[in-house]
Amino acid sequence: MTDLVIRNARVMTCDPARPGLGMIDHGALVIAGGKIAWIGDDAEAPSAGYTIDARGRLVTPGLVDCHTHAIFAGDRANEFAMRAAGTPYLEIAAAGGGIHATLEPTRGAADDTLVELTRERIACARANGTTVIEIKSGYDLTNAGELRLLRCIARAAVVAGPRIVPTLLAHLIPADRAVDRDVYVRSICDQLVRAAATERLATSVDVYCDEGAFTLAETRAILTTAKACGLAVRGHVGQFRDLGAAELLGELGARSADHVEQISDDGIAALARAGVVAVMLPGACVQLRLPVPPVDKLRHAGVPLAVATDLNPGSSYSESLPLQLWLATTHYGMTVEEAWLGVTRHAARALGVEAGRLVTGAAGDVVLWKCNDPADVPYHYGANHVDRVWIAGVL
Ligand SMILES: [Zn+2]
Repeated sequence: MTDLVIRNARVMTCDPARPGLGMIDHGALVIAGGKIAWIGDDAEAPSAGYTIDARGRLVTPGLVDCHTHAIFAGDRANEFAMRAAGTPYLEIAAAGGGIHATLEPTRGAADDTLVELTRERIACARANGTTVIEIKSGYDLTNAGELRLLRCIARAAVVAGPRIVPTLLAHLIPADRAVDRDVYVRSICDQLVRAAATERLATSVDVYCDEGAFTLAETRAILTTAKACGLAVRGHVGQFRDLGAAELLGELGARSADHVEQISDDGIAALARAGVVAVMLPGACVQLRLPVPPVDKLRHAGVPLAVATDLNPGSSYSESLPLQLWLATTHYGMTVEEAWLGVTRHAARALGVEAGRLVTGAAGDVVLWKCNDPADVPYHYGANHVDRVWIAGVL
């Protein structure tokens, strides 16, 4: 493979060894063998290889979407219309909508269909600059069905496509298991989590700990099992009600606590102590008209903040991280710098993967933008500013 040289660029390295976003205003980089082989000032750039003149435009790490539910069939446009007319989400869910409405089409879809649908969503994410994408199971709710979804997620990977990070999600107690939910939770622990670990189908386990989903005790049981099986743990926390899951995730040394619209001061302190990433999901927050998470308190406690799409058919049907940059900066009160670190370095940390920074030896996951200032992307929102995307050095 010929070396690729990108010259005359405003490079956002997101390198923690540099301040802020690690900007190199007159920068250049070289990708060789799929990795960043050199990065620095343009004046010192090696000249060998196929050269692209960025004409002063922005070059960043490939974006990392650390929270998606990208594998599902069907859609819930009807619920979107109901919410737009003022019906609350929990009311729609109680009437058979919400997550339950996605179960039937997903269970009924053939493997090939699910793989194809997921690939289409991944392609859309890549067109918006995403080069690493986490995908959760969670729209089947039977043990065999959840394992099938994880196998389909593994199949969805394509050459020069974003790297996929698979997560097993305990999403909800299905309606027909409400009577024996203890047995259901035990089977998740004893069968599903263990099978996912043994077959290496997931690298982490996530539990939706909230009103109408799993209790704190059930969350503890599932995540403790996951840890014992060698899997990383994370959680959907306090989207509607604070059940104390942030404290639990801190105690367990989780990778991330996601949503956190509702979180206590003790919960924030627990995340800060354990270095747990708080994942902001502003798309879902806006659509469900929920209160904004306490970003200022999280920031001052030193909790690393990531930003993700929460791509799902109910509350946030979007593959676009640039749109989340806009919501994070305008609706959540995050700075431009915080939002960008949230879709790069901090998102990678939430997934436990090497990505989201441009440093020598890192994967050659690079985005060339049509604009030249990091603020341009959230500022001029809705337009796709992505010019070109390389994944492991492949355009
Ligand atoms: Zn989610």
